[in-house]
Amino acid sequence: MQTHIAPRFQNDPSVTEADAILRSCVHCGFCTATCPTYQILGDELDGPRGRIYLIKEFLAGAPATEHTLEHLDRCLTCRACETTCPSGVRYARLAEIGRAHIEAEVGRSTLERLKRRLLRAIVPHPERFHLLVRLGDIFKPLLPDALARMVPTLPKPRLKAPRATFHATHRVIALAGCVQSVMTPSTGVALEQILGSLGVAVDVPASAGCCGALSLHLNAHNEAHNYMRRNIDAWWPLIEAGAEAILVSASGCGSMVKEYGEALQNDPHYAEKAARVAALACDPSEWLLERAGEIPFVAANRGTVAFHAPCSLQHAQRLQGRVETLLQQAGYQLTNVRDSHLCCGSAGSYSILQPTLSQQLRNQKLEALQAGQPDCIATANVGCQIHLQSGSETPVCHWLDLCADALAPLLEDCSD
Ligand code: SF4
Ligand code: SF4
Repeated sequence: MQTHIAPRFQNDPSVTEADAILRSCVHCGFCTATCPTYQILGDELDGPRGRIYLIKEFLAGAPATEHTLEHLDRCLTCRACETTCPSGVRYARLAEIGRAHIEAEVGRSTLERLKRRLLRAIVPHPERFHLLVRLGDIFKPLLPDALARMVPTLPKPRLKAPRATFHATHRVIALAGCVQSVMTPSTGVALEQILGSLGVAVDVPASAGCCGALSLHLNAHNEAHNYMRRNIDAWWPLIEAGAEAILVSASGCGSMVKEYGEALQNDPHYAEKAARVAALACDPSEWLLERAGEIPFVAANRGTVAFHAPCSLQHAQRLQGRVETLLQQAGYQLTNVRDSHLCCGSAGSYSILQPTLSQQLRNQKLEALQAGQPDCIATANVGCQIHLQSGSETPVCHWLDLCADALAPLLEDCSD
């Protein structure tokens, strides 16, 4: 694609990067076919090729309007278009740069700014988020239906076997995260149990926290980079002491940590450490699959599971089939799920900022997941888990919960 960057952007390094991405797009439109928002809205400008065109026009000097920003805001950053693109266009990075410039030009209403500020002030802080969810739970019956549907419910604690004592042969780091530590803490426990069964010790430093993805997606880049630096500081002594990997069980956070190197590449104090952290980051399915034969699953037929691969797992991290293999080894039978490449509509803060589209996508996804009448739906990211559970009677678990249950055969646990 030919580009002509406007003189006012010529000295901006992020626009130079955007320009290179724009030039790699051949405008073929293959990506449009797999874009969830294009499928629902049917407007070229609500698909990747249209959004790329809008960013190109803006960087060439065309004025942006609130409609330009609206088309970019409707993008889930699910990255299905990146998986489909034969030219390797880095759409998500282009959208991040384009959105930041267009938002700075067009601005947002006071209400929209307030929503984004509140999200950033609450969600990355587990103690504040926990308080909000508790209050939401208490006052839910008094809220209007539309608002009540948006309040997540705190899960009941799951029964967990005590952790085994063992002599550790390996040492890894795990990230508890912000939302996951409040909403689904059992996921972290499950990971520790599986690792414990392999003789692997896990460090979860309390000073690590939010991965920075929420702030980054809300255009608060400095704030996001500060969260990243805080995590690197928390993990660095453990890395120097020989930690073999950083396991991130929320795939949305995992895809962010894997990009720390790129995000902090211009920071002279952190660039090297960030690259090392990114190289050590992995989804538990990557690490566990290499050792699958050693996991002491108790042989049993544990029922049927429909697996929803989050976009952050299948499109951002490009990890396909690993979780499914582990679940099968643990004794679960997987049901077929049509259109498994499509987003469930959770997408970080999307479910709050774009509730109508988000719910349409969730209902569509649940229809596909429930078609095979599974006993349970499994996923790999806390956001998808809560979002899907909010519209379904079928229990929705993290796949690690199911694998941990297979160490002691208790499938019924996931319906607590
Ligand atoms: S992003 Fe890729 S698939 Fe989409 S129009 Fe450009 S080259 Fe084609
Ligand atoms: S990231 Fe997802 S929603 Fe956004 S343009 Fe690409 S496919 Fe469409």
